[in-house]
Amino acid sequence: IPPEGLYAGEIVIGDGGFVFALEKRGYVKAGPWTPEATVEHPEAGASIVGVNCHFDPDISLETVKLMKEGLQAAKVKAHLMSQPLAFHTPDCGKQGFIDLPEFPFGLEPRIVTRWDIQKYARKAYDLGIRYIGGCCGFEPYHIRAIAEELAPERGFLPEASEKHGSWGDSLSMHTKPWVRARARKEYWENLKPASGRPYCPSMSKPDGWGVTKGARELMQQREATSEQQLKELFQKQKF
Ligand SMILES: [Zn+2]
Repeated sequence: IPPEGLYAGEIVIGDGGFVFALEKRGYVKAGPWTPEATVEHPEAGASIVGVNCHFDPDISLETVKLMKEGLQAAKVKAHLMSQPLAFHTPDCGKQGFIDLPEFPFGLEPRIVTRWDIQKYARKAYDLGIRYIGGCCGFEPYHIRAIAEELAPERGFLPEASEKHGSWGDSLSMHTKPWVRARARKEYWENLKPASGRPYCPSMSKPDGWGVTKGARELMQQREATSEQQLKELFQKQKF
């Protein structure tokens, strides 16, 4: 939190993503530490606390729930924020999606649906979060889904909503009768999407190189990675 912002009375966002990453890396005790750390942020002047990036909507909301409990226990007031990934990450380890074998160029099979996002927006709102957004993987239709889910609260539909109906109801005009049968919330809400990838597991094994602060491999260098340095890394990599 930049002190200039604090003294100027600006809105300050305390991003718990960093705090949570510390927990997940094992630097601090997970669980009980989240509310404690949260409380430290508003006391330092943050107007908004929450999490950003590295984990999926479900994990992010669980974290904000812990933060909220911490705030309540300490009787500290702050707005809540969540900006999760648009990727499913139930198999993530301590550092989140950066350790997944699919990171960063093969993550598409994990992308959440617009219906996942409508559910996320509703859960986030019910939890008391009022800064509801997304980070890596979010596409415009995901953000639109947040605004559509919360249209009753906001009093209006977002831009481009006229292109389709809520929860697929414009499918009532579809040429195929079995698709017309999908013109309702119950269908999309209960859908269990298949991946269509016969030999793929539903969960990956995240990398766990144990490379943290102070490790040689994390040092930044001015020049490009050399052939020799790359060779060492390639040898270390398991498939
Ligand atoms: Zn991100």
